[in-house]
Amino acid sequence: MNAPVAHKPPCGGIDLRQEQGQRAVFCGLTGIVWLHRKIQDAFFLVVGSRTCAHLIQSAAGVMIFAEPRFATAIIDERDLAGLADANEELDRVVTRLIERRPDIKLLFLVGSCPSEVIKLDLSRAAQRLSGRLTPVRVLNYSGSGIETTFTQGEDACLAALVPDLPREPVAAAPSLLVVGALADVVEDQFLRMFAAMGIADVRFLPARRAGAMPAVGRGTRYLLAQPFLTDTARALDERGAHRLPAPFPFGAEGTTGWLRAAAEAFGVSEAAFEQATAAGRARAETALAPHREKLSGKRVFFFPDSQLEVPLARFLVRELDAELVEVGTPYLHRGHLAAEIELLPSGTRVTEGQSLDDQMDRCRAARPDLTICGLGLANPLEAEGLSTKWSIELLFTPVQGYEQAGDLAELFVRPLRRRALLEV
Ligand code: SF4
Repeated sequence: MNAPVAHKPPCGGIDLRQEQGQRAVFCGLTGIVWLHRKIQDAFFLVVGSRTCAHLIQSAAGVMIFAEPRFATAIIDERDLAGLADANEELDRVVTRLIERRPDIKLLFLVGSCPSEVIKLDLSRAAQRLSGRLTPVRVLNYSGSGIETTFTQGEDACLAALVPDLPREPVAAAPSLLVVGALADVVEDQFLRMFAAMGIADVRFLPARRAGAMPAVGRGTRYLLAQPFLTDTARALDERGAHRLPAPFPFGAEGTTGWLRAAAEAFGVSEAAFEQATAAGRARAETALAPHREKLSGKRVFFFPDSQLEVPLARFLVRELDAELVEVGTPYLHRGHLAAEIELLPSGTRVTEGQSLDDQMDRCRAARPDLTICGLGLANPLEAEGLSTKWSIELLFTPVQGYEQAGDLAELFVRPLRRRALLEV
């Protein structure tokens, strides 16, 4: 018999503090690494410097595609008089790319932070090129690392897609839109669950192909699958869509709450909801049980990095019996995270923003069993004898939904196991 999941009573009242100072984050270009796999006929052209090209190449690791779906157009330093040339050069590069690659149906010009790129007007470039290269759509967004976190690249990309989405006819029946890049296997699982509840018209943003992007309108009810989609949600609201407030689909409890929000909005009966979700929920709880034994009582410290911190902290404390030392998050969207905040234990220390040195001092003093942080902090903390988990892995791995709950827990167990082996 597996131990049942111990659900603690929901409690608001977190101990929220804000901090400002030095930050340690990756830039939004990183999102290309998972987005290019998702939209299969899109291409991401970073307009940036050699640093951007290095970052994107090392973040992506070894390319397994014969024809990659991203590249960097390197803009060297130039004065204002050189800008016209830069625009011409960009047009030439894009035109050549589209001629050579007829499989590309959607091209993103991705801005970056070097000053010579900021001077270029990429939105005008995208409009100009869209006109010339029809039917290929050219859109732009910024992956700049100034004052952003790495997950904001996905937010900016999806927000750029929204104005371009087809318009849903006014009289159309309500439809459900799931927002946020999910692994195909996760999408398929959710589709089956929604169908089992009787919700048939379910769409995803982004779609797998440029020509299949979902229509939106006043009948669109949307669920965010990721907590970092602030600009995308705003753009959808402006198109008349309505967000369904929900926790995020991490772990059994989060997934149930997330599915329930859709069930309530679409008038699904409790019996139908139970029937559609009971087996998945039971499988998730079975998968979590062995991990709970390893994580129970373990003290966890989150550095602010991915914006996934609050939902993951909720999952760790409520479904795996871990203890939270501090939950750092770059931004805390009070509205989108309201259901999550409600579920955190009273008094949980949540820090919004970052003052790196102060936070490192607190982490060192607390000596947590597990620290979730960015790549740059993991090595020094490991050298000091702390176990770390790279938060970026949570974006590269399918972790949403019932079937992935065990894998998500395993990601947190692995560093503890590794340290235990090292210490033998
Ligand atoms: S966008 Fe900015 S932060 Fe990101 S790699 Fe390029 S120069 Fe660095």
